[in-house]
Amino acid sequence: MSLISLPRALEILSQDEIVAIPTETVYGLAGRIDSPTALKKIFTVKKRPYFDPLIVHVHSIEDAKRLCLEWPEVYDILAKEFWPGPLTLVAKKNSRVHDLISSGLDTVAIRCPLHPLAQQILFSLKTPFAAPSANRFGKTSPTRWTHVETEFNGEIPIVDGGPCQVGLESTVVQWDFKNKTQLSILRPGVITATLLQKALLKHQIKVKIEKNTSHRSPGFLLQHYQPKWPLVIINKYNLIEKDKASILNQLNTHLPKPHFLSSKIDWIELELDHQPQIAARELYHQLHNLSSGKKAILYFLTKGRWQSPEWEGLVDRLSRAASLQYFEEEPQ
Ligand code: AMP
Ligand code: MG
Repeated sequence: MSLISLPRALEILSQDEIVAIPTETVYGLAGRIDSPTALKKIFTVKKRPYFDPLIVHVHSIEDAKRLCLEWPEVYDILAKEFWPGPLTLVAKKNSRVHDLISSGLDTVAIRCPLHPLAQQILFSLKTPFAAPSANRFGKTSPTRWTHVETEFNGEIPIVDGGPCQVGLESTVVQWDFKNKTQLSILRPGVITATLLQKALLKHQIKVKIEKNTSHRSPGFLLQHYQPKWPLVIINKYNLIEKDKASILNQLNTHLPKPHFLSSKIDWIELELDHQPQIAARELYHQLHNLSSGKKAILYFLTKGRWQSPEWEGLVDRLSRAASLQYFEEEPQ
């Protein structure tokens, strides 16, 4: 077992090493931003490609500003409203940000985490850390220390901070530094466009908020978060219980069989809570659990969910975690 205490984690972090730590979104693999050795280890251990930039975690807005060339008023308002919390702001970086962090881009992604242990680590280190999710690249993110333990076969020291309360990665936004009229959501999360708009309007700031621009960042790949056993999503217009059997029949007879499905599909169903916040908190945990059943995982996604803003972050992760999506024809 690789659980360690907070003081031990601080010691390890100060020796160019990396540690898995809890945040409110997912468990992160943390390395100090002033240690190129630790930063390299993050990429090696995760098998993460160097083109995928890391998010820097800071203790305060002041610490964030110290890493940027420019800090627009919009970021000040959003940070005051949502930090500490699951919102990442992409800003123009200065020379304090190593190229390993930004993958050679001239910007850096920054957030201030809410989890008390992450805060305590940042306070004691007095240096920000970079921390992508503590899992191998492309795989399901960890929301419990046990997920990290299994993923890395006990080889990474972990600080236990309990189950993650948000359970989905942060919303990532980027200000249009050139025209100064638009905020882009690069990755949807629990902080939605509506919440961002509301916070800005309180300060009489009206900006266009553009969604679904995931191609803007090199790290946003169509296939990500994938569980060990394949997830298949059935997109339904109206789901009634008796439809499930007929869909499964269609899957067996009509769909071209991906390599992972044997002649008869042996499957297990993913069921998510009706409240998006609870569903988000449980998603990755359920994917980890269901994967151990060694069956294809099926999820029936109804239209109400795939169109509703508060489900957006979750549907984004589900879609990218899926090996196959089946769309029912729209009723006339
Ligand atoms: P994660 O793998 O969950 O840590 O996600 C971090 C994501 O944030 C990456 O996949 C990047 O695509 C995004 N990101 C990090 N830095 C930047 C940046 N400078 N510009 C745009 N996106 C970024
Ligand atoms: Mg990740």
